[in-house]
Amino acid sequence: MPITHEISVDLPGRSYKVTVGIDILTGLGRIAAASDGRVVVITDSNVRPLYADAVQASLSDASGRSDVIEFPAGEEHKNLATYEDVMDRILSLEPPIDRRSVVVTLGGGVVGDLGGFVAATALRGLPFVNLPTTLLADVDAAVGGKTGLNAQAGKNLIGAFYQPEAVIIDAAVLKTLPADELGNGLAECVKHGVIRDWALLDFIEDNIEKITSCQPDTLAELIGRNVAIKASVVSADERESGERAHLNFGHTIGHAIETAAGYGVLSHGQAVALGMVAAFDIAESRSLIDSSVAGRVRKILTELSLPVNFDDLSNLPAEARNPNRLREIMAHDKKTLGGVVRFVLPVSPGVVAIFDDVTDEQIKAAVAALG
Ligand code: ADP
Ligand code: ZN
Repeated sequence: MPITHEISVDLPGRSYKVTVGIDILTGLGRIAAASDGRVVVITDSNVRPLYADAVQASLSDASGRSDVIEFPAGEEHKNLATYEDVMDRILSLEPPIDRRSVVVTLGGGVVGDLGGFVAATALRGLPFVNLPTTLLADVDAAVGGKTGLNAQAGKNLIGAFYQPEAVIIDAAVLKTLPADELGNGLAECVKHGVIRDWALLDFIEDNIEKITSCQPDTLAELIGRNVAIKASVVSADERESGERAHLNFGHTIGHAIETAAGYGVLSHGQAVALGMVAAFDIAESRSLIDSSVAGRVRKILTELSLPVNFDDLSNLPAEARNPNRLREIMAHDKKTLGGVVRFVLPVSPGVVAIFDDVTDEQIKAAVAALG
């Protein structure tokens, strides 16, 4: 069970380690040992049949006892009804759990968010270990400690910051991930390259084939590098530098397109890819960067089968390409303060800055340029 990367996430009063490797879900005995023997695995209906047996077998090697609680896969189940059901089930296990019992979340971002929130709130907080199984959860959700649910009024409006004891990422489990889901994570990887590490884009470009075919060594390297970037941004922000906003690169226009298109029409990765292209367009129009830099990013996105204009997508509703509608959605975004849309724009390869003075005309021109 080779471990390829160990990254420390340092937050005030709380640090934890992210371990990345290949076939490492089989080495979980130490979790059971630390838990006084009692572990509850929370997972979803897609991931359970693929990986829950291996995880349970690995936990029981340390003579630990584990139960599995499964809920139906899909973002539409990340809600209070599922939370209540999972909570009722964990609290009625026999023998009862106690505050030393460990919650293990096994799944994508939905499982990590909902299961993490159950861990944060059951018996006022149980230790939890996160085993993410999507590339998006690996490189994005697994670092930062956000847990929670969607509410009727909007996504992720219920929740808590709650840090895991550890995050264990097995690159080998990505081989069963549908291509669209891989694309969601890849868009965030490109984002990390643009905001912090231009050489990461070289790595991606040199390994397109191995990445898209889920070659485990290459994915482990990709994940390790991206977790390190996200961890450094998040830890720096805990020191109040405001850097965390840089992670919003590509998401301002991207979220607006995703929302305007309607639920489930575009994947998050597709929307963020378009948002990044639009942000580059704005940066170019303000002479912040050279057009060759933007061209390079568009080329990589295309090689990763992510869209760079509206024509790359079929069935896109007209709403989603209407600049006025998108501007309206941005004005209502919870990250928008006092009507001013804050844009993260590239200023040189691997470096971004925040701009409060992007005009409506610049936004509309960038959307129009998407086709
Ligand atoms: P996210 O993209 O935020 O990680 P989800 O938790 O909804 O979102 O995961 C996306 C989908 O992929 C879900 O249907 C989930 O059940 C499924 N899934 C998660 N991990 C794997 C995996 N390793 N192999 C196959 N399907 C997976
Ligand atoms: Zn995102």
